[in-house]
Amino acid sequence: MTLLSVAHLSKSFDGVKAVDDVSFDLEAGQLLALIGPNGAGKSTCFNMINGQLGPSSGSIRFDGHEIAGMRPRDIWRLGVGRTFQIAATFNSMTVLENVQMALLSHERRIFSLFGRVASWREEEALALLELVGMTEHARRSCAVLAYGDVKRVELAIALANHPKLLLMDEPTAGMAPQERNGLMALTARLAKERNIGVLFTEHSMDVVFSHADWLIVLARGRLIARGDAEAIRSDPRVREVYLGTGASFAPRAVLSAGESA
Ligand code: ADP
Ligand code: MG
Repeated sequence: MTLLSVAHLSKSFDGVKAVDDVSFDLEAGQLLALIGPNGAGKSTCFNMINGQLGPSSGSIRFDGHEIAGMRPRDIWRLGVGRTFQIAATFNSMTVLENVQMALLSHERRIFSLFGRVASWREEEALALLELVGMTEHARRSCAVLAYGDVKRVELAIALANHPKLLLMDEPTAGMAPQERNGLMALTARLAKERNIGVLFTEHSMDVVFSHADWLIVLARGRLIARGDAEAIRSDPRVREVYLGTGASFAPRAVLSAGESA
């Protein structure tokens, strides 16, 4: 089922087209990578889908609703989640408290974690932490977590809202290669298990080619290619826009055989 359908989406800043007539679809349960060099318009696309930016023109249909131009909070309520919504209070609470807070926020309750309410939704919060492999860290302060573990907590927080679509703009920025693969493998597993559509950006081509079901490529605001890893890897236009950026598109076997990428 088509979960997200973006059609002829454009955004101009002072007459410059940051996103120019972009159209694509995303199915539930699938991981779609949006890739392209710096300045290609990836974040601008994300910010139109999550409501932080209003499009100049075009349509964004999500789960039966036209969401282009809607407020971020309303889009979030329809089931569009994103990582990187760390609250200012994140570091002052434990891992478990942060996930409880996200669950309560999903219920739109006004609450305080002081006093008796501290046990609200604890079981459900612990279940989410188990999903992302953070059970043993539940009672630790978020301030002392390793970077990769913070990312797992962010994922648990995003899942607390039961998203149908998860937007992840550079979720693995700053992580070591092995951690990147771990986080995206976890995301891919959860997407399949919970039938969540995931739209993500990622700089490491290894990670993109390993975990994305489909890829779309932006260059200077335009969508220049779409396909699976194999199609994108061998697409001459894609190679051209990445030329000189140091990105590697060739399969490892070819590289080690002595060919230049
Ligand atoms: P990416 O995420 O692919 O690196 P962005 O979407 O951040 O690219 O940016 C695309 C283009 O739009 C860039 O040229 C950038 O300078 C421009 N841009 C992005 N946001 C704004 C803004 N708020 N005001 C003006 N120009 C912007
Ligand atoms: Mg960006």
